[in-house]
Order: sequence, then structure tokens, then C-alpha cells
Amino acid sequence: MQRYPLYIGGAFRDPAGGEWFETENPYTLEPWAQIARGTAADVEAAVAAAQQAFESGWGRSKPAYRAGLLRALADRLEQAAADLAQVETRDNGKLIAETGGQTRYLPAWFRYYAGLAENLEGRVIPIDKPDVTVYTRPEPLGVIGAITPWNSPLMLATWKLAPALAAGNTVVLKPSEFTSASSIELARIFDQVGFPPGVFNVVTGFGGEVGVPLVAHPQVAKVAFTGGEAGGRGVYKAAAERLIPATLELGGKSPNIVFADADIDQAVKGVIAGIFAATGQTCLAGSRVLVEDSIHDAFVERLVAFAGRARLGDPADLATQVGPVTTRPQYDKILSYIDIARAEGARCVLGGGPAPHPAGGKGLFVQPTIFADVRNDMRIAREEVFGPVMSILRFKDQADAVRIANDSDYGLAAGVWTQNLRRALDMSDALAAGTVWVNTYRAVSYLAPFGGYKASGIGRENGAEALSAYTQTKTVWLSTAAEQPDPFVMR
Ligand code: NAD
Repeated sequence: MQRYPLYIGGAFRDPAGGEWFETENPYTLEPWAQIARGTAADVEAAVAAAQQAFESGWGRSKPAYRAGLLRALADRLEQAAADLAQVETRDNGKLIAETGGQTRYLPAWFRYYAGLAENLEGRVIPIDKPDVTVYTRPEPLGVIGAITPWNSPLMLATWKLAPALAAGNTVVLKPSEFTSASSIELARIFDQVGFPPGVFNVVTGFGGEVGVPLVAHPQVAKVAFTGGEAGGRGVYKAAAERLIPATLELGGKSPNIVFADADIDQAVKGVIAGIFAATGQTCLAGSRVLVEDSIHDAFVERLVAFAGRARLGDPADLATQVGPVTTRPQYDKILSYIDIARAEGARCVLGGGPAPHPAGGKGLFVQPTIFADVRNDMRIAREEVFGPVMSILRFKDQADAVRIANDSDYGLAAGVWTQNLRRALDMSDALAAGTVWVNTYRAVSYLAPFGGYKASGIGRENGAEALSAYTQTKTVWLSTAAEQPDPFVMR
């Protein structure tokens, strides 16, 4: 069986503890590779390598040099995109149509941040005092601990890596224990491009054995975490203890709101895309569907008909529309939420249980499931399921829609379906969410900041904002005065 080692200080190496664990293909439930089980000793070595790389030159390197390497990386990624997508699909069960789209898009991140690195400028401050020149320098932070979940490993790693490296930081990446393979494949590409050893490191393993010591390490200057709320809280507490910044990209319970004046054909597709794409295993899932009273019954009927035709199958097959659930714990969690929804009195109008494996195999499938008559105080409307389970709620008018949509602990994203421009603008203003999509859903770009309000996270990834989140400002005061003023008075 194939083995994926650690990548530390520019070398592929076995884990210090000598242990390996298996990773499964979610479609077959067959183990297909062995992953190095990293421990605190490996974290120590990786952070030391990253710190050494930072201090010995990368942290002070010319932006043009870093940009050149990032562009070379983008070129190699472009060639490797199809192979990377295969690995991703084999390891996390996401549709090849989607992993292929994601890996083909990754080079854009590295090229964009390469350009931003070359434009990372300080300012000369028009200071209000004589004989001094004051200017600022955006400086990197040091070693970044990057921690990613299993649903889009390479894309979410890239959202951290590209701006962090562009700004002159070095990185230790800890991918999810369920989907580590693609991050090591990425390390191979870094290796071929010729980044200085230690600039990028990958330590695979479990949250408690690698993630916890990484965040606690005294030389880690910032943590960039994407994952669930429990892990996010743990990371944030540990970062607070060490007084270091943390970017958190967490979960959601995003409303997808359909007004009677929407283009209904398009709204049906947008609502389906919001929850059944990626088998609902996406942070930005539109899992709460709010439908205006006057079209409610007809719209539910359309959704049921559309989702009922979804083709379950092998995620490596381009024709498949809904793939397997990625992990056993996630499968159990989805089914338990279906039970909870029934017990709460929600009306199941589609699916509602496990689905047989489309080819008679062992992989874990859940039927695309729709609950109607959901109230916003039910757990199925408040908690993240992270699976193909849609909750439908009714609303009376625009104010009612805003009230229900914003009555949530989360605020990652929201969708609005309307042909009324005034309403589109008013809803975009009123919704408490980091992203509002109007007449579209589930669109992301390297150019557009992404992140959560409320319990959905802290900080933003993508866009120019993400670069400044990986820098700190130094202010330099340079005096040309011939005489020092009174030493006992503040200048
Ligand atoms: P998870 O929180 O269980 O794990 C995420 C990563 O953190 C893994 O690598 C894990 O090993 C590590 N980890 C867990 N606890 C840790 C700790 N205390 N200290 C350090 N590291 C720790 O999340 P998951 O189940 O892999 O992913 C699903 C979750 O991710 C969902 O809640 C989803 O909404 C969220 N997510 C958010 C976004 C976003 O951009 N907002 C994107 C994708 C997924």
C-alpha cells in the first residue's frame, strides 16, 4: 500500500513515533494508503525548520523572489491538477467534477498573491512633528500553523498558504486525519519547484497529537484554522493563552431565501446546489431554506421532484451528482439528525435514511433528504448537520424572512432569490452573514473575502484582506534633528 510520509525541512521523512494509520476511500471503504502518524516530536522538528527558514532569509526575502516561486508553483499545479483531483476524490469522496474544478482553480490563488506580494507597500506618514521621517513596513509574522478539515483539503490549505507565503511567513500545515494524502502530494510539488527547505512543512496526524502541540508551540506566530466549532474553540483558547492571532473559518446554518418574485426555475437549482452539492458536506451549505408562504407548497414539490432525481454514485464518475459521506462519524451524525428532526415534528418529504450503495459496495450513502414544516427553534434548524439534509421553513414577508434568517448562532453565508432589485439590496444589507449571494449560491473566488459573522468564524480569507492578516505593521521614526529635545518630556 502506498505510504505518505511527513514533509519537514525540505525532506520527506517517517514519523518520529514510527506509527502509520490507514486512510479509506469513502466510496469503497477500502484502505488505500498509509499516512504518517505525527506526534509532538514531529511538530517540534517542523516548527524548528520553519523558524530556521524564516530567520535565515525567507522572512526578509524580496517580494519579487517569493512571487517568482509562487508563480512557478502555480505552473506546476496547473500540470498536476487532474492527478491531484484524483487523489482528493479517492480520499474524501467528493465528486471528481468538483475536485477537478477546485484543483484547476488553485493556481489562481498563488498567482494573485504573488502579485499582491509585489505590491505590499508601506506608507510615508505626513507626521506632525519637525525633522522626522516616519514610514511603515508591513512585515511577516513568522511561522504560521495552518489546520484544515476533510471536506476541501487542498482548496482550504491554499486559502492559507498563498497569502501566508506571499507575505514572507513560513508554514506548518496539519491536514485532517481523514484526508491527508493530497497535502503530501502538494508538498511534492513544492519540493520540485525549489522553495527553500522549511518554508512549507506538512505534519499529518490527529488533532490532539499534532494540532494541539502545533497551536501550543512557542514559535508559532499565528494559527489559521478551518474546521468545526469544537476544534475552533479549542484552537482559539490555546491561541489566547499564548496571545497570538487566530483566523477561524467555522461552520454554518446558512439561510437560502426564496421570494415569490424569484425566477423559480433558477431558484430551484440554486437551492439544490446549496445543500446537495458535495453531499451537503460544505461549510457554506444553504441548509435552511426559507420559502415565502404564497409559493411554499408548489416550490417544495419542485424541490422534491428535482432532488428525487439526483444520481447517487461513484464520485470518480463525472455523471454522479451525489457521492458518499466522507467519514463514518459524519454518517452517524447525519442519520442522528434525521431522527432528531422527525422527533421534533418536522415532516420528511424526501429521503430520510441511509441509501443503498449504488453499486452494491460498502461506502456510506445517505438519501438526499428534505424536511418541511421546520420551525426555527428546532435543532434541525439551528445546528450544523454537514450532510444532504435540507430544512424548509415558511415566511410571511420580507421582514419575517430577515428575522428568521438572522435568528441563528451562525452567520457564514446567505442566499436570496428575487427579481426585485430593491429587495435584493435591502436583503443584502440586512442579513447577518459574511457572504450574501443574490440569485446565485456557493460561488467563491481568490478575489472575494470569505469568512463568518458570529459563531461562523473570525477573520477573512481570500482577497487583499487575507494578505494583511498575515502581516504586522512596523512604524519607523527617523530623526534628522541636530539636537535631541528635553530628555524628560515625551516627544
Ligand atoms: P474538525 O474541527 O473536526 O477538524 C478540523 C481540523 O482541526 C482537523 O485537521 C483536526 O485534526 C484539527 N483539530 C481538531 N481539534 C483540534 C484542536 N483542539 N486543536 C488543533 N487542531 C484540532 O472539523 P472537520 O470535521 O474536519 O470539518 C468539518 C467542519 O469544518 C464543519 O464544521 C465545517 O463547517 C467546517 N468548515 C468550515 C469552512 C469555512 O471556510 N468556514 C470550510 C470547510 C469546513
